[in-house]
This record gives sequence, C-alpha cells and structure tokens, in this order.
Amino acid sequence: MKRREFIKNAGILSLASYMPKSNASIQDIVALSLDGDEIILDSVDILDFMSSFQGSVITKEHYDYDTARLVWNGVWDKQPALIVYCESVADIQQAINFSREQNLLTAVRGGGHSISGKSTCDGGIIIDLSRMRKTSVDLQRKIVTVEPGCTLYDLDSKTLPYGYVVPAGVVSHTGVAGLTLGGGIGSLMRMFGLTIDNLRSVDIITADGVMRKASADENP
Ligand SMILES: Cc1cc2nc3c(=O)[nH]c(=O)nc-3n(C[C@H](O)[C@H](O)[C@H](O)COP(=O)(O)OP(=O)(O)OC[C@H]3O[C@@H](n4cnc5c(N)ncnc54)[C@H](O)[C@@H]3O)c2cc1C
Repeated sequence: MKRREFIKNAGILSLASYMPKSNASIQDIVALSLDGDEIILDSVDILDFMSSFQGSVITKEHYDYDTARLVWNGVWDKQPALIVYCESVADIQQAINFSREQNLLTAVRGGGHSISGKSTCDGGIIIDLSRMRKTSVDLQRKIVTVEPGCTLYDLDSKTLPYGYVVPAGVVSHTGVAGLTLGGGIGSLMRMFGLTIDNLRSVDIITADGVMRKASADENP
C-alpha cells in the first residue's frame, strides 16, 4: 500500500470515533491561495492535520458550518474552506504551519467584531481563537494576561474585582486582541491612552510557526 493511501485509511479509522458524522469522510477541498488562485487541499493532508489538532475542524459539510462562519458584521457572508477552532498554542502553530505549507488564504478571528470583515474570508481558512479565554492577574506588577480569544468582558471580570482596569472599549463582547491592534478607544482614553499604550508584551506566533515574545526589551 502506498504511503498516502495508508495515511488516508489510517486517518479515517482513527478519527471516525470522535469526528462529527458530517466530517467523517473528508474529501479533497477546493480552496483559494494567498494569491487568489484556486488550489486543492488534499484529503490526506487535511486528515494528517486533524489527527494531531486538539480543537475542532469545520468543513463545508459539517452541520455547524453556517454558524461557525458567522462574524459580528453580517455584511460579510463569506464561505471559508475551513474553520479551525484552536484550543492551545500548539493548535495555533499547527494551523499556521498548515496554512503556510498549503499557501492558503488565511484569516485570524478573535472576538469576530471586525467591522470591515478582516477575520473571515472566502475559500481560505479561519483560524479561530475564541475558545482560548484564560486570564490571569499579577497584582504586584499590576499586569493582567489574557489569551487571544478573550473579550473585554473577560478582561474586566478579571481586573475590576481588584479595583483595576485596563483602558479598552465600551462593548463587552469585543475581542481584546483585535481591539488592541486596531482600536483601543474608550472612556478612559483621555486619562490613560489607548489600550496599546498600556500593552506590556505579546506572545506572537509568526508565519514560520515559531512563538516569540515582543516587548520593549525583546524583539521591540
Ligand atoms: C459592537 C462593536 C463595538 C465596538 N466598540 C469599540 C470601542 O468601544 N472601542 C474601540 O476602540 N473599538 C471598538 N470596536 C471596534 C473593534 O475594536 C474592532 O472591530 C476590533 O478589530 C475587533 O476585534 P475582535 O478581536 O473582536 O475582532 P476580529 O474580527 O476577531 O479581529 C479584528 C482584526 O484583528 C485580527 N486579530 C484578532 N485577534 C488576533 C490575534 N490574536 N492575532 C492576530 N490578529 C488578530 C483579525 O485578524 C482582524 O484583522 C467595536 C466594534 C464593534 C463591532
């Protein structure tokens, strides 16, 4: 048996027990590349990816597809080829590596509130981070750490009980990451600046799949 056939069969056998019925027989998927060209995602490669991905992988055949592709601004009625819900740093790295290897059009989704629809795409992959919502607070250093799926609700819930606040937006279901990158305007702005003015550091996974830290002292 050829290696590709073996992986295909082995993948189907090992995944069938936990994959939703509609994803159980993954087919090749027609998708769009970063350059806008039509590409084929081979089912062997998709199954290979899924076999070590902790989170969920949603294809067009999946019964959750139409819910999973929704973003806050309903104007952006896009049809991604794949939506992957990451549950760990390793998942994000794996999703980025897969996208890069396939030269696949990629959108990253945190809170999904991009008004201009930047966290969705037609024919590409959505790397969704909304399941990663852990927070922690260091009261001595007055620092709060949030995972990339956190909303302003998660942020405020962590700090307000201690009498602290991070200057941010005014709508609790907005994503912290997207707001920090492209907004950060709120009622405390005149006194404390934008959210990004208060950002100490980020752990960032770059396009090569490597996690790096960026701060004033490291990769500034
Ligand atoms: C109802 C509503 C209220 C708002 N209120 C305010 C407000 O009070 N103040 C304000 O400043 N702005 C406000 N905004 C604008 C908001 O800050 C931006 O739309 C922001 O980009 C939303 O971030 P998100 O994570 O929810 O969205 P997403 O759509 O998930 O992401 C927005 C952009 O950031 C990128 N991104 C998100 N997470 C990551 C990540 N972890 N790594 C890399 N890229 C990432 C996405 O790829 C996309 O390009 C509001 C928007 C809405 C819809």
